[in-house]
Amino acid sequence: MERSVENKNLNTPNVVIVGAGPVGVLTANLLGLQGIPVLLIDQNPRILEIPRAISLDQDALRVLQAAGFGEEIAASMPSISGIELISPFGGRFAKVNSLGSLDCHPRLVSIYQPELERILRNGLKRFSHVRLWSECTYISHIESESNIIVNVKCQGVACKITTGFLLGCDGARSTVRENQGWSMLGSSYKEDWLILDITKLPNLLNKVEFICDPKRPVAHVPGPNGSERWEFLLHEGETKEEMEKPDKVRELMKPWGDVSQMDVERIAVYRFQAKTVDWMGKGKIFLLGDAAHLTPPFAGQGLVSGIRDSINLSWKLSAVINKTAASKILSSYHTERRPHAKKTIRLAVLLGSIIMTRSKIKAIIRDTIFKLLYYTPLKQFIFDLRIRPENSFKHGLFIKNKKLTKTKIKVGSIFPQAPVKLPNGTFILSDDLFGQSLYIIGYGTHPLSVLDEYTKSLWEQMGGKTLFFSNQQSFYQQGSYLPSAEDITSAFFSAFGGLDRFVILRPDRIVAAVFSKENTNQTILEFYKIYLETNV
Ligand SMILES: Cc1cc2nc3c(=O)[nH]c(=O)nc-3n(C[C@H](O)[C@H](O)[C@H](O)COP(=O)(O)OP(=O)(O)OC[C@H]3O[C@@H](n4cnc5c(N)ncnc54)[C@H](O)[C@@H]3O)c2cc1C
Repeated sequence: MERSVENKNLNTPNVVIVGAGPVGVLTANLLGLQGIPVLLIDQNPRILEIPRAISLDQDALRVLQAAGFGEEIAASMPSISGIELISPFGGRFAKVNSLGSLDCHPRLVSIYQPELERILRNGLKRFSHVRLWSECTYISHIESESNIIVNVKCQGVACKITTGFLLGCDGARSTVRENQGWSMLGSSYKEDWLILDITKLPNLLNKVEFICDPKRPVAHVPGPNGSERWEFLLHEGETKEEMEKPDKVRELMKPWGDVSQMDVERIAVYRFQAKTVDWMGKGKIFLLGDAAHLTPPFAGQGLVSGIRDSINLSWKLSAVINKTAASKILSSYHTERRPHAKKTIRLAVLLGSIIMTRSKIKAIIRDTIFKLLYYTPLKQFIFDLRIRPENSFKHGLFIKNKKLTKTKIKVGSIFPQAPVKLPNGTFILSDDLFGQSLYIIGYGTHPLSVLDEYTKSLWEQMGGKTLFFSNQQSFYQQGSYLPSAEDITSAFFSAFGGLDRFVILRPDRIVAAVFSKENTNQTILEFYKIYLETNV
């Protein structure tokens, strides 16, 4: 039997998302906030309760904030204080500090992935134009010049859905990717890992420990709500069935106490992969999350990469659907995200090779090198968590014009976040002021005071808004230009590097241009050409 989508009471959605894992649901939330009709489907009846992501970083938290989950983040995700690498030869041979915050979020927090997914699914209730169909399996699609017909099977019934865009958020074994003929390039590890999530522990950990013992490397990670994660590398010949037996778990856990007094909530065996798809998107079809890249968990960045995909693509899609941007901007999703995902995977593979060394000689050399690094200028880079690839792009949807002196803001990189004061006296985080809009932000001078009428009209066509930050003095001098925000911590003064400077800020908080007062009109014109003009 076949039926059309009308039977399920949803008008043709602009976007069909395959896969209601964390990346698919987050993307549906971000598109929902922009008013885009979305149909999200998943083959499973409910959220998967399996041990997967256990940590997120400040960039991921900032995206969750943008999707409206700021309060839930603070309530359910405790900070992790550091990462320690321990060896039987060199003792604690490296300590990475993850305390403190960056852009108003902790630099590392622990999460329970199914709980995060529940929060994200609850968020969908805000939108009458976003639907989630469970037990609905994507089968195939046909792309034409005007639309895409998606064939799905919902509770045994075949349906055809007509849509404008198809997003494959369908995980490691993505059928959307397979049907597109896009290949995953990279490698699979030869070894398996046993993963244990345990509660009711005698002592709680607040840092990550990598026990880099060549005999059996172990990762030990704090989780939320009094839980902890252990990951044990399996030896050659050890099977999943054997390792999941209670006696084996008791033996492995012996150094940490009597497991019969604890609660082993989840057990799984995984083989990790380090792969990136050759195309993250073309035309009207895009891949996000594990469907596009598979990261071994040693850097805790697999889901973080998917979250970055989600914010990068969702605002561009919304702008195209709302006709405030030309469809050509969508190609920048692949250009920007693929190199960054690859860099992240390279880091995770490197960390894995350090942690997993199975040779005693190599382990002793490793411990010695790390101890020596502590006395070199590389110390801060490695031991202050700066080793993670910066969230910035070499090529993409931005204008690389002449660099301004003293400014710390980099084109193609993430814009800082800080608290600001509004004219009505309330304090808010700057990202909450921007919402999901494209902005010209001035420091000390309001953009409207320098834009000519023609440029202003182009900016309006792009759906752009304007705002200025100021120190207290210029705030009152220019008070007639609203909206404006007072830079109460001077964080933006230090970032802009002076007055009369401007940035174009994308809704994903990536800086699209940095320019001086004199170049304002020219820069907006250039941006219009790459953003909305269709005849170039
Ligand atoms: C042990 C382990 C530890 C990890 N630790 C971390 C960490 O600390 N930090 C971190 O950032 N990441 C971590 N990760 C990675 C993280 O869990 C994944 O990157 C994340 O789950 C990917 O989310 P996703 O939404 O892309 O895919 P998934 O979560 O796999 O979701 C895909 C969804 O698509 C659905 N689907 C598939 N095919 C179809 C179809 N044909 N039709 C309909 N629906 C379909 C599936 O049912 C599923 O719900 C870890 C992973 C593992 C295994």
